[in-house]
Amino acid sequence: MDKLLLHCCCGPCSMYPISFLKSKNTELDMFWFNPNIHPEFEWKRRLDNLRIVASYYNEELIEVGSSLESYWMDCQFLSSFNSRCEMCYDMRIDMVAEYCASHDYRAFTTTLLVSPYQNHEEIVRIANEKAKKYGTKFEYHDFRDGYRTGQDMAREIGLYRQKYCGCILSLEESKYRDKILKSFEEA
Ligand code: SF4
Repeated sequence: MDKLLLHCCCGPCSMYPISFLKSKNTELDMFWFNPNIHPEFEWKRRLDNLRIVASYYNEELIEVGSSLESYWMDCQFLSSFNSRCEMCYDMRIDMVAEYCASHDYRAFTTTLLVSPYQNHEEIVRIANEKAKKYGTKFEYHDFRDGYRTGQDMAREIGLYRQKYCGCILSLEESKYRDKILKSFEEA
């Protein structure tokens, strides 16, 4: 198949990469697999947000996994990585690469590459490693120049823009922690 599989970490971060890829006439399917997002309410809220993006761009959205995949809580799995973010990228990109290979996409990439707040080099290293593991291709894009543009686009179409990365630890570390917890209570 001559399509790119685009892993989407959330709605706002997907806006610029999809717009960029479409401007290059790239055929793509969007792919949701983000069990790192806690709590479940937030996981669902971000997925709903991404559905809005899929419909805005008229693109197919493939949805895989739940908010609490068992291996996220597996201590042995966790201890084999240097950091929680390395584990988080590894877990998600492994699934993307496996799906890409088994469904005959020409390559995969990820919207994680748009964020200046993520470890860009680590994501690229893991993506190349997973492409090799499954005998498929990782298509590298440095989307970071479009980060602000993408956030503005998200604001324009009224998307929810989260204030923490996704896992429960990033929620605890967020300077908006109390406000976020309050939003869960009010929902
Ligand atoms: S901070 Fe973000 S990238 Fe790191 S583990 Fe948490 S959700 Fe994953």
